[in-house]
Amino acid sequence: MTERKKEYYDEAAETMPAEERVRARREMLRETVLYAYGHAPATRRKMDDAGIRPGDVKEPADLRRIPLTRKADLKHIQKGEPPFGGLAAVPPRAMRHIYVSPGPTFDPEGRDASHWRWEKAFFAAGFREGDIVQNTFMYHFSPAGLMFDEALQRIGCTVIPAGVGNTELQAQVMKELGVTGYVGTPSFLMTILEKAKEFGYTSGDGLSLRVGLVTGEMFPDSLRARFRNEFGVEVRQVYGTADVGSLGYECQEGNGMHVPDEILLELIDPATGEPVPAGGIGEVVVTLPNRAYPLVRFATGDLSVLSEEPCPCGRTSPRLLRLVGRVDQVTKVKGMFVHPEQVTLLAGKLPVIASAQFVVTRTEHDDHMEMRIVLKDSAAASDALAARIVEMAREITRLRGEVRFIAATELEEPEKKIVDKRKWD
Ligand SMILES: [Zn+2]
Repeated sequence: MTERKKEYYDEAAETMPAEERVRARREMLRETVLYAYGHAPATRRKMDDAGIRPGDVKEPADLRRIPLTRKADLKHIQKGEPPFGGLAAVPPRAMRHIYVSPGPTFDPEGRDASHWRWEKAFFAAGFREGDIVQNTFMYHFSPAGLMFDEALQRIGCTVIPAGVGNTELQAQVMKELGVTGYVGTPSFLMTILEKAKEFGYTSGDGLSLRVGLVTGEMFPDSLRARFRNEFGVEVRQVYGTADVGSLGYECQEGNGMHVPDEILLELIDPATGEPVPAGGIGEVVVTLPNRAYPLVRFATGDLSVLSEEPCPCGRTSPRLLRLVGRVDQVTKVKGMFVHPEQVTLLAGKLPVIASAQFVVTRTEHDDHMEMRIVLKDSAAASDALAARIVEMAREITRLRGEVRFIAATELEEPEKKIVDKRKWD
């Protein structure tokens, strides 16, 4: 194994003691802000406009004085100063790849090997040198396919650039090439494994698949358990974006995604701009030390929950416990965030609930939250059941709502988990 590979195989990732991390973060912060200010015109402008010099940013808390750059505004920012909106530190010809995300927005990839930083995530998920990996992410326009491909090659895996679709061929290839690792969405892995089963290939009898790394969709524990118990595959999930690469990965514990030490991650209350308290829901904001694309306070629009609890795996880094939706889906009720995942969570807690929808209204200056509950055919509405739902909703949302049992046909805008009927004018 070359020295280079050893670096990527680093088993001691994210294990530094707390004091050391504080020091490392402070140093990284100062260097990144200084570098971005010097090389990325848009970052320099936003700092100048806010009256902040690089030397003013000494501690992570100082970062809060710098305004956010919102992912949702990228299309507009890039149009104003093509192609990268003044956020890149090098010209397009100095990039290795330029990807195109919906919008369109352009995602640069610099020439440093470590641009997306997925190697650690694969290692933590159990991928090793010698694995034969089927990569089912898209290879054109979107970075997903190539960014995982490159990381797998660097840790010594062999990659089958399978791309999306072609379920039958995917199942056949998985068997015939003795594939040991999968990369893609969790739902597509299940589709392939079920197809393989139809063909008569199962784990240990035709299939050699051992590990999977998934992202791009919710990954419920029930699905993880099915992969393990029915198909003998250990699957771990990761979180990242086309702008910044790896932002979190699961270790063998599978209980939250460790935040890599190469980035600075804040969790910010979208309403106040303040950091959220422990266990609270906030928007993921990233400061990225990268020579080609050094971002300072890039707001991803993703909502998550951060835990500083120690992980049994030995990593001391904080973990993103789960992704709970997008900032643009959030509704504020009585000063508290309510988001669609909480409605789904509530509905999932009681087997008698077929579906649930929250309707928010306002009288005078008071918000009201009505929880419209559709029960399964066999279930009967009762005051006791309503009281239980109120109590569970209070635990989930910290809000008090009223329950109304309705028929499925009475749901307004049934595709919405939250209907906000307040008028603000
Ligand atoms: Zn861990």
